[in-house]
Parts: sequence; C-alpha cells; structure tokens
Amino acid sequence: MTTPSFNRILLKLSGEVLMGEGEFGIDPATCERVAREIAAAKDAGFELCVVVGGGNIFRGLAGAAKGFDRASADYMGMLATVMNALAMQNALEHIGVDTRVQSAIPMSSVCEPYIRRRAVRHMEKGRVVIFAAGTGNPFFTTDTAAALRAAEMGCDALFKGTSVDGVYDADPKKNPDAKRYSALSFNRVLADDLKVMDASAVALCRDNNIPIVVFNIRSEGNLADALRGDGTSTIVRN
Ligand code: UDP
Repeated sequence: MTTPSFNRILLKLSGEVLMGEGEFGIDPATCERVAREIAAAKDAGFELCVVVGGGNIFRGLAGAAKGFDRASADYMGMLATVMNALAMQNALEHIGVDTRVQSAIPMSSVCEPYIRRRAVRHMEKGRVVIFAAGTGNPFFTTDTAAALRAAEMGCDALFKGTSVDGVYDADPKKNPDAKRYSALSFNRVLADDLKVMDASAVALCRDNNIPIVVFNIRSEGNLADALRGDGTSTIVRN
C-alpha cells in the first residue's frame, strides 16, 4: 500500500479501545499502552491530536433506547468522553508526554475549553491535544467530531484506531471469507454504506480531502506501522 507522507495527524480512539479486555469502563493498562504508541509517534516526528469516544461508558442511542431523551442521553455520552480524555491525559503524562485536554463543553476547573487557535499552538509546541466532548452538540458522534477537528487543525490524515485491521466487505468476526480492502474511495464507502465511520464524518473528510486510515490499535506497534504505511490497514481517500 502506498501511503502519502503525513506530518500532522488526528488519532480517533473509540471508547471500546480503552476498555481493553473488559466489557465496560476504562482499563488503565490499556490507556498506558496506547499512550506509549502515541509517545512513539511523537518521537518519530508527528504532530498529534486525539479525539476520544465514550462508548465504553455511555452511548446516547443506547440511553435513548432505555427511555432517556435523546439529547440528554447524548450529553451524558459527551461527558463520558471527558472521563476518557482525562484517563488518556493521565497515562500520557505518566510517561512524560505534555498534553492538554480541550472540551467542546466548557468545564473550566477540569480542562481547557476548545479554542482552535490555542489547540494549534499547543501542537506546534509539541503537546498532544486531546479533544473531549465531541462536537459539543447532541445528535452527533465522536467520529464526526474527529473529522471536524481534523479539518480545523489542518491535519493531513485521520487515523481511526479500532479493533479490526481495516475495512472489510463483510464482518470479519462473523464471516471468515470477508476480504479487507487496502484502499477505497470516499464515494465507494458512502455508496456501499461500508462501516468505516458514520456518513457525516466520511463526507466531511471527503470534502476537505483528509484521508482516513483504519487500523487495529489493539496490538503494540500498530500505530507506528500504520503511520509508516506498513502493516495492515485500509486507507480511504479521494
Ligand atoms: N456525542 C454527541 N455529540 C458528539 C459526540 C458524541 O452527542 O459530538 C455522544 C453520543 O451520545 C455518543 C457518545 O457521545 O454516543 C459517545 O461517543 P461515541 O459513541 O461516538 O463514542 P465511540 O463509539 O467512539 O466510543
């Protein structure tokens, strides 16, 4: 696979990644391992920012299915992402990586509010910026927040760390014959409704020409491999 060279990247970490082998919540050892991956990427010269999901704690849709108002449930989901952001900040700072958390929902005694120009400055100074609380709006997902922040930060690519090593034509966990794509166009992803990110996130990346690299972040070294264009992953681009 030929991967264009990237300098500034956004890493999307779904909440599921942070629960490790558990079925809920935050696993500190997993946060530390992911933090080491981020530190290695920084040492390799990349400028990095991170958007964290919240699905390991609370998802708006699941809350709404149980009877919460959708908007209230989505705000609860956004608050869950703040917990994950603080956990990742903690893990990164334990290994000496300077970080700032910026939340789309201001909570001044916990972290900085999201201010685009300040976030860019942090990255220029070598800090890892972790974006929390998604877009700050209900009815969105952290995938869309990742695409939005990647565009705002002028990122060269969006790396989506998941528990599968790319995009398949069928669910590889259910179908052993499922085939992995090495590269796909944004329009193909949208037309075939391939499960990469939600459609609004894919469209935002397409319109701003930001490639999406889907890779498995569950094994050590995979982020570095994906950044070098080695290992198995799927790149979605124009
Ligand atoms: N959320 C939201 N607006 C946003 C981002 C997230 O309302 O801009 C809520 C939504 O309820 C979502 C939850 O936060 O279910 C957690 O985010 P997400 O499901 O995207 O996390 P992930 O699947 O990446 O763990």
